Amino acid sequence: MKKFNLYSILFFLSLPFYALSQENVDQAMMKKIREEGLKNSKLMEIAFNLTDKSGNRLTNSEGYTRAANYAKETLTGWGIQNATIDPWGEFGKGWDLKKMYLAMTAPYYKPLLAWPKTWTAGTKGLKKGGLLVVALKDSASLESLRGSLKGKLIIIDQLDVYKQSFKPDAVRYTDEELAKMAAAEPPQARGARAYSGNSSRSALMGIAKLTSLLKAMAMKEGAVGMITTSLRNHDGTIFTQGGGSYKGTDPANFLDISMGIEDYNTLLRLAKSGTDVQMETEVKTKFQEKDLQGYNVIAEIPGTDPVLKNEVVMIGAHLDSWQSGTGATDNASGSSVMMEVMRILKAVGAQPKRTVRIGLWSGEEEGLLGSRGYVKKTFMDESGKPNAAHEKFSSYFNIDNGTGKIRGIYLQGNAACATIFTKWFEPFNDLGAKTITISNTGGTDHLSFDGVGLPGFQFIQDPIEYSTKTHHSNMDVYDHLIEDDLKQMAVIVAGFAYNAAQREAKLPRKEK
Ligand SMILES: [Zn+2]
Repeated sequence: MKKFNLYSILFFLSLPFYALSQENVDQAMMKKIREEGLKNSKLMEIAFNLTDKSGNRLTNSEGYTRAANYAKETLTGWGIQNATIDPWGEFGKGWDLKKMYLAMTAPYYKPLLAWPKTWTAGTKGLKKGGLLVVALKDSASLESLRGSLKGKLIIIDQLDVYKQSFKPDAVRYTDEELAKMAAAEPPQARGARAYSGNSSRSALMGIAKLTSLLKAMAMKEGAVGMITTSLRNHDGTIFTQGGGSYKGTDPANFLDISMGIEDYNTLLRLAKSGTDVQMETEVKTKFQEKDLQGYNVIAEIPGTDPVLKNEVVMIGAHLDSWQSGTGATDNASGSSVMMEVMRILKAVGAQPKRTVRIGLWSGEEEGLLGSRGYVKKTFMDESGKPNAAHEKFSSYFNIDNGTGKIRGIYLQGNAACATIFTKWFEPFNDLGAKTITISNTGGTDHLSFDGVGLPGFQFIQDPIEYSTKTHHSNMDVYDHLIEDDLKQMAVIVAGFAYNAAQREAKLPRKEK
């Protein structure tokens, strides 16, 4: 009786360990991956080619094409198979900036740092003239401007006061923050969340409406362009995104130039004081309308198991960017890491049982379009129902939160993966990665998989200066990448991809 008690206690004590030990991790392979990724890394060479060499990678731009060709050729050169620049559906026009000049010429000369928003028209030559200050009060006051906009450069009367920040631009997650994530409640099901409308939101929508009314009038009357800013644009950092629609049949948008708040306020104060402010500007933009198709880059290491090779593990990141920087942290970092993962797996001689496939997406910045297009054509049938490939899909792992190293993973509500990923992180715990949170994270391409019932995950990454400095700004350039963090990411993602390819079953899916 005594003996039986002891055995039963031992049995119960061993239960959690038993559950974990079911997950076999090839420790020798994890060591090889780590050695290759930390000692022979090609990450910064890849990142240089995707940023400095390619330029910005706005979807369907010349820079995107350069980067996609580089990725395809480089992956092929490493022995990664079936590398292809893969059409995913119609995107729209390409847009490239060919010339940007903006200066104040009176009351004195001052060059100005500014970027046009994407898919906006140019100036058709050098234009000189005064500034027209326009307040966005109501549609009646805008109507009173009708007939007076020809040849004018417009500045919106919105003086936001610059404020110094006393917080550091770059941060890492603290242990407390990570512990809070690990303790999070399961995410609410969709539809359970109450809509939280507020008055500042409707005020913003009012301004957006007035802005588009003004743009339509200005375009029709032949105004030169408009200058806008935001409180985020300070200390030489300018956040610039889309300037309007880009579909094949859409007309060009009115020139809208994003400027730093200090220069903007100088112009506005001078103009409103009654000083004669004179400006010079020339903007050339080039539209590509011949091929409206959007393209991803896809490549793979075919599986070696006669049966499991038909099952697929995917890793990916979006290759496209906005226009003012070179999309270094959004998302050359993720794309470089994923290319490096493929290189590492090949270099260590991995023979994955399942097929490991990389997807470098376009159209992410316009709404996850490339990954959505890929998922739709690959995993769904004509009627939008899951097909055989959907059934044979294991999992997708994404990187798109800047240059910060991996601290853990968002389960996206898939509780069954918690013990599996805990085990997969173990060989890399000393590199700072172990937090498992049941929470969802949004805003990037894993949602395209998650949305059709496929396991799709984004890692938890240290924020560094993503929201303060680099995300969609002119400062999103090579120098803002952190080499050691990128190497850590590549090693961990390679480990995850290999484990997903080798484990007995595909990863569990969320309970419906
Ligand atoms: Zn982005």
